[in-house]
Order: sequence, then C-alpha cells, then structure tokens
Amino acid sequence: SLALEKVTKSFGKTDVIKGVDLDVREGEFIVFVGPSGCGKSTLLRIIAGLEDQTSGHVRIGDQVVDAVPPAKRGIAMVFQSYALYPHLNVRGNMGLALKQEGIPKAEIEARIKKAADILALDALLDRRPSELSGGQRQRVAIGRAIVRQPKLFLFDEPLSNLDAALRVNTRIEIAKLHRLLGATLVYVTHDQTEAMTLADRIVVLNGGRIEQVGSPMELYKNPANLFVAGFIGSPK
Ligand code: ATP
Ligand code: MG
Repeated sequence: SLALEKVTKSFGKTDVIKGVDLDVREGEFIVFVGPSGCGKSTLLRIIAGLEDQTSGHVRIGDQVVDAVPPAKRGIAMVFQSYALYPHLNVRGNMGLALKQEGIPKAEIEARIKKAADILALDALLDRRPSELSGGQRQRVAIGRAIVRQPKLFLFDEPLSNLDAALRVNTRIEIAKLHRLLGATLVYVTHDQTEAMTLADRIVVLNGGRIEQVGSPMELYKNPANLFVAGFIGSPK
C-alpha cells in the first residue's frame, strides 16, 4: 500500500502541490489525470523519491519513506521517454539494474525470461533498441521495471509516444500485467480511454490539489464539480 499525507511541494515561491492526501490499497490500479502542469509528474517523482516534498509524508507499506533513497523504496518507474541503453541488447537492458544490485546471474536470467514471457519479448532478447518498433521498446522499458519485482510501479504517460494501434495493444498488456503481478500501480495519463479502462480509481488533479477520487463509474455518474465532469465526461 501507499499513502500520501498532506504532501506539498514548492519550487521557489511557486506552490505546485498544495496538500495531497491519498490512500492507495495494495494491488490497486490508480490513475492520475488532470491538465498539463497540475503536478502529476511531480507527485510521481515525490513518491519515487526523485524529488523531496516540501512538507508532508510518503508511506510505502507501513514505512514512512521520506528519508529513504529512491533505490531503496521498492519502486520501479517507467517514464514517457523510456530511454533504453542503445549499446545493450534487450537482455542487457533488462538485466543491467539487477547486475548492479549484485543479483546472481542465474536469477537475473530467470527473471528476464519470465518478464519476456509476459511481454512477448522472447524472440527479441538479442536485439538492440534500434532494431525494435516503438511498442517493442516500450515493452522492454516495462520489462526492465518488472524484473526488479517491485511492490509498486509508477508509470508516467508510458504510451504517449505510441501510435493508436500500439497504444491499444500496450494498454491491454499493462492491464494483463497488473492482474498477473498483483502489484500496486500508479499511472499518469492524458488519455481518457486509458483512465476509464485501466483504473480501479481515478484521481483527478487540478492546480496541485485533488478535485475528486473515485472509480471510473463514480466519477462519470457523480462528478463532484464541473471541472471533473468536463475532464471525465467529454471525450478528447
Ligand atoms: P504534464 O501533463 O504536462 O506532464 P504535469 O501535471 O506532469 O504536467 P508537473 O511536471 O508535475 O506537471 O509540473 C507541475 C508544475 O511544476 C508545472 O507548473 C511545472 O512548470 C512546475 N515544475 C516542475 N518541475 C519544476 C522544477 N524543477 N522547477 C520549477 N518548476 C517546476
Ligand atoms: Mg507530466
């Protein structure tokens, strides 16, 4: 589980996150939506420990992780720009972090094999990123996160660089993945279809505050205000 407690963030004099409280259940798929600049990525980066909050607390499991460095938080993050190492093949890209952690070779191989299985990358393990399609590269980026076996995945607009068909396919992969791994997922998107189809609960952010939290149906049927109605109700 994950909890944000009265989290704020200011850059200089600008308040970007203005007091966010959120409880995420173990195994839940949470989707953040909201306009550009509302603080979605900043919140993910605070959860990951890549950015310090100005005040408030982040709890993962039953531990307050405010002072815990990113690598020790048991999180894997997938960014929109899923920079793979161009000189390493797929296997190398997926295994690198594990190697650096000192995990034995056989264990690394086993984890890569399992992730490749889930993401249909078995046939591509020896290829370099330049020899892959955009969707395949994105699956490698997800695979790189899976092999670390985190309890918590953070996805920041992972499909936004993909064309429509790949986006649908990868979205389905992510939904399957969530069911299969039973991990907790926090997922940022601009895409209403992604939010409605993937989320257990959607968090609607606006100007650094939460407007509403609820299941896709709840938000659709009972939006708390016009902002939420506009965001969830009107297809893009
Ligand atoms: P988008 O949908 O465009 O990705 P977002 O909701 O992810 O937007 P954030 O990246 O979290 O938005 O940014 C929130 C606000 O914080 C923005 O106004 C942004 O300009 C500001 N901001 C983010 N990082 C910094 C920084 N390092 N220094 C100063 N301001 C920042
Ligand atoms: Mg962002």
